[in-house]
Amino acid sequence: MYGLELLKKGIIWRIGSGSQVRIWRDPWIPRGRSLRVTSRQGRCRLRWVSELLDIDGKDWDFDKLARLFNPADADAIAKIKLPARVSEDFLAWHPEKTGLFSVSSAYNLGLSLQNDQTQEASSEAADGERKIWGLVWNGLKLCREALPTRRAKFIRKMETSALCTLCDREAETGFHATVACPQAKCLRKAMREHWHLPEERLFEYTGPVWLLLLLDICSEEQRDLVKLLLWKAWAVHNNITHQSGPLSILESVHSLLALQAPLSLSRFGDGQVSGWKPPPQGYYKVNVDGSYVAQIGEAGVGVIIRDSLGGVILTAWRVVFRCSGAVEAEARACVEGLRLAAQWAQGPVILESDCARIVGTLQKKEDSWSIVQVKRECNSVANNLAHLARRNVHSAVWLGQAPACATVLIKSDCNLPSS
Ligand SMILES: [Zn+2]
Repeated sequence: MYGLELLKKGIIWRIGSGSQVRIWRDPWIPRGRSLRVTSRQGRCRLRWVSELLDIDGKDWDFDKLARLFNPADADAIAKIKLPARVSEDFLAWHPEKTGLFSVSSAYNLGLSLQNDQTQEASSEAADGERKIWGLVWNGLKLCREALPTRRAKFIRKMETSALCTLCDREAETGFHATVACPQAKCLRKAMREHWHLPEERLFEYTGPVWLLLLLDICSEEQRDLVKLLLWKAWAVHNNITHQSGPLSILESVHSLLALQAPLSLSRFGDGQVSGWKPPPQGYYKVNVDGSYVAQIGEAGVGVIIRDSLGGVILTAWRVVFRCSGAVEAEARACVEGLRLAAQWAQGPVILESDCARIVGTLQKKEDSWSIVQVKRECNSVANNLAHLARRNVHSAVWLGQAPACATVLIKSDCNLPSS
């Protein structure tokens, strides 16, 4: 790519009033890859960037962004700082911070465009997840106290009392409804059984931007979970206050787990988490996991057997009735894994479990098999299958294949040694 063509690729609109920049056609989104919106326009009638601003024209209308764009676009747009004073839109040269054109930055842009063509396709795929991300995104509104809490309404003189209708203890702020209210605390406690959330002491009110500060200390993965959790807490809170239809904590837990599954897939897809490692040539690796929820006594086990090339020999999951605890669920998973391995794997076997107690008990030298304890993130497929079994009260063995919910995970999870 040379000359004018390349120059065009690096030119970007800097937003002032937004009234001269076309949302769907112009380059105006400052980021590494496409400077244009990647979301599909669909039936959206909006044409000018100025139509994406809030009433004052001083900030973005975040609701609109979440509704119209895929997460990548919405996120990038939200990051664009709008000028404090009224100003015109103007054209700049994107690859240089100063906005002025230089030859070396044009050269670098040319190089990176060559490498980036594959990446654009993946942002298309993100489109399908727009709905979930829209929900997560809405969680961010908490920061701005934009949720219609009683306190916010009270300030605007719409309601007579600002106290939380659920607990009657505190003003119903965004923080109270999603973090401090007993209802929210219950949900958080229940989710800790499934998710690795930040420590409880970190869920504190540190000022108007408490959510930003909280998210800031989270790992990448925790960040999504916290956003989902708070969003759900808010939905539950709202449901009870306005529709007098209390959702059970259990229902909330289930719906959160269901929402989280595709999110964790996309995280793994980013290649940020180190995953499963294939066994040496000629070996089979059996990953097993048990899933157990104490409050309801539900349990399930998941098994996946793979060869040294990462090929799936089988996937299996089984619901477990009358299970006494998490360790029993893990033990049953091991038994199930070994049973299936004896039947279907023609060679020495390595069993992987993330349960320290089981591995400790079983670990002794054997010729034909060995057992290894691995971290949770190296055991994600078996974990996924165990949840599947428990959630759906279902059991199955699939030879040479895996259910749809696990295939993406299997693909991204596999760390074949590069040769
Ligand atoms: Zn309350």
